[in-house]
Amino acid sequence: MSALDLPGYTHVYSGKVRDLYAPVGADGEVVPDRLLLVASNRLSAYDWMMSPEIPDKGAVLTRLSLWWFDQLSDLVPNHVVSTDVPEAVGGRAVLVRKLEMLKVEAIARAYLTGGGLEEYREKGSVSGVVLPDGLVDGSKLPEPVFTPTTKAPVGEHDLPMSPAEVEAELGADVAAEVSRLTRAILARGNEIAAQRGILIADTKVEFGVSPDGSGGLVLADEVLTPDSSRFWPAELWEPGHPQPSYDKQFVRDWLTSTDSGWDRKAGGPPPELPAHVVEQTRAKYVEAYERLTGETF
Ligand code: ATP
Ligand code: MG
Repeated sequence: MSALDLPGYTHVYSGKVRDLYAPVGADGEVVPDRLLLVASNRLSAYDWMMSPEIPDKGAVLTRLSLWWFDQLSDLVPNHVVSTDVPEAVGGRAVLVRKLEMLKVEAIARAYLTGGGLEEYREKGSVSGVVLPDGLVDGSKLPEPVFTPTTKAPVGEHDLPMSPAEVEAELGADVAAEVSRLTRAILARGNEIAAQRGILIADTKVEFGVSPDGSGGLVLADEVLTPDSSRFWPAELWEPGHPQPSYDKQFVRDWLTSTDSGWDRKAGGPPPELPAHVVEQTRAKYVEAYERLTGETF
């Protein structure tokens, strides 16, 4: 995760995908209320960082998030300040308001799969919400369900949070608002995506608040991207088995195939991705962007 040398900025943090920089003013002091959020081309699967990187992935994530922030702006304010960024990171960076981030990964599910499906099979409910009998992998839920998790440090796993745990962390009012907004974002996302032949099965968003405590919740980080969401092609949707999706599917499928020669359970690092897997993964990210926005990447 090599930090770039960006004139006028200093590196402050690197997450799995994004690198954060603080602007430095003419007086040499760090500007306290702004961050430069740079999306890299890194891709992780099964908790391993893949090599090589996926060309254009950072630009796709950045442009798609900006597009969604606009589509959602009447529902929720967002952290975007400007896209006037250093040339070296042009197209894959945004200047944002530096927020105090809530310590909750705000997840909503419109369709049942993954961790939600496992919990339903065990308990008949997901995050305390009782669901109808007979749902299968890929079933549409009667309405979006809020299924928050902890925000674990890099290298650790996020864990499900009960409604009581979320309230203890955020207070009852903020917890209710985070739940409402997260479900509303997914519902609006699905209304728009449906016109483009895509189902958004589930998504994760992050909210922050202004450090001085003024104002309400602000949508931060990224929104409704293939990294934060499961996108399914609507025409292939068929409950009862795993759905093809627009995210890391190619990488995961290749890694677990005999072609890769990788024994995931043995604990060693995965092999280098072959060029065709890199190219197909890039193409999927670009296709998701183009289908959703109707724009050419
Ligand atoms: P993941 O997204 O997979 O859960 P991550 O935290 O490693 O993990 P990245 O997207 O790589 O994610 O890193 C972005 C980091 O920037 C996150 O820690 C996120 O909370 C933080 N962040 C995003 N927007 C803001 C903001 N406006 N103010 C402060 N921090 C922000
Ligand atoms: Mg993130």
